[in-house]
Amino acid sequence: MIPVAEPVFDDDELKNLVEAIKTGWISSKGKFVKEFEVNFAKYIGAKYGVATMNGTAALHLALRALDIKTGDEIIVPDLCFIATANTVTYCNAKPIPVDSHPEYWCLDPYKIEERITTKTKAIIPVHLYGHPCDMDIIMELAERYNLFVIEDAAEAHGAKYKGNIVGALGDINCFSFFANKIITTGEGGMCLTDSVELYEKMKILRDHGMNPQKRYWHDFLGFNYRMTNLQAAVGVAQLKKIDKFIEKKRLIAKWYKEGFQELEEQGYITLHPELSWAMNIFWMYSILINDKAKIRRDHFIEKLKGKGIDSRPFFYPIHVLPMYEFNTNKLKNAEDISSRGVNLPTSPILEKNQIDFIVKTIKELINT
Ligand SMILES: *Cc1c(COP(=O)(O)O)cnc(C)c1O
Repeated sequence: MIPVAEPVFDDDELKNLVEAIKTGWISSKGKFVKEFEVNFAKYIGAKYGVATMNGTAALHLALRALDIKTGDEIIVPDLCFIATANTVTYCNAKPIPVDSHPEYWCLDPYKIEERITTKTKAIIPVHLYGHPCDMDIIMELAERYNLFVIEDAAEAHGAKYKGNIVGALGDINCFSFFANKIITTGEGGMCLTDSVELYEKMKILRDHGMNPQKRYWHDFLGFNYRMTNLQAAVGVAQLKKIDKFIEKKRLIAKWYKEGFQELEEQGYITLHPELSWAMNIFWMYSILINDKAKIRRDHFIEKLKGKGIDSRPFFYPIHVLPMYEFNTNKLKNAEDISSRGVNLPTSPILEKNQIDFIVKTIKELINT
């Protein structure tokens, strides 16, 4: 079976892990945590990094640091992984889903303003499946309405918006290092910020809200959201390879695009976009199955599996899920894209002959 995603390691990860274990620094104290925070922040172009136990914890930490609370409304994309909306709910705030842009699938920046109320406190743009959001419009709205911006760049390490790496524009920006993300620490996450106040606040919130000068004195309700030195040991080694991973994912995307050219021209499928202002890192190369194809998405996924190729359906729009059904707005693009989208294998160790096999199999499935 060709998996959709697979972590790639070499001796570097092992060497760092062995060092962490041999020195006994296995929890959150230890040199790799700091090293990973500093190196990752530098790579993205932010001043400070706060590593967390996973990406969901990073989002929750960011929202708590910005004092998001009961009654607040937070703009999120409707089409997105559930963690983004859930962390808003953890703060007793309300996620307000916005429809997808039909061309590049991220939240449509032109549909944000109509959802802004006096309760709106922040926007969380998610760079979906590796494609950046149109940040200029989002930042302009945030400025005009005095809203915080939290970029969720969990799926887009190294993607670029108008030439700049995403994840450094918002007040706090969040990343995930889950096994299938661009680089991984097993489970893991990070918040980046340029604000020294938010940086200090997040470090305290991450460590039970404990006063750094007074052990076991807790000024406010905090969490244990720390990253371990074992996770960070892997992260430090992974980060050295990030540009290679991205380059390979873009090459895989090019192979898919060339292979699918005919299917696309004939209108059977829609390819993973890359708008003129974007550098997509193709976290998972994705296609939409158009109505013209005889086969429906779920059947397509089943058939692919039968041929030894794993794939994933797109996320459900959050407004159809039981806990978010309160939103009755018609979000047609998100529903449409969600129902037709498939993520294809995009591991950076895949070779041309494997992509050729996947393309050939898909051509047969679509045309019969
Ligand atoms: C993966 C992901 C998260 C959550 O990260 P975890 O590390 O799995 O908790 C959050 N947002 C988006 C968009 C993601 O893809």
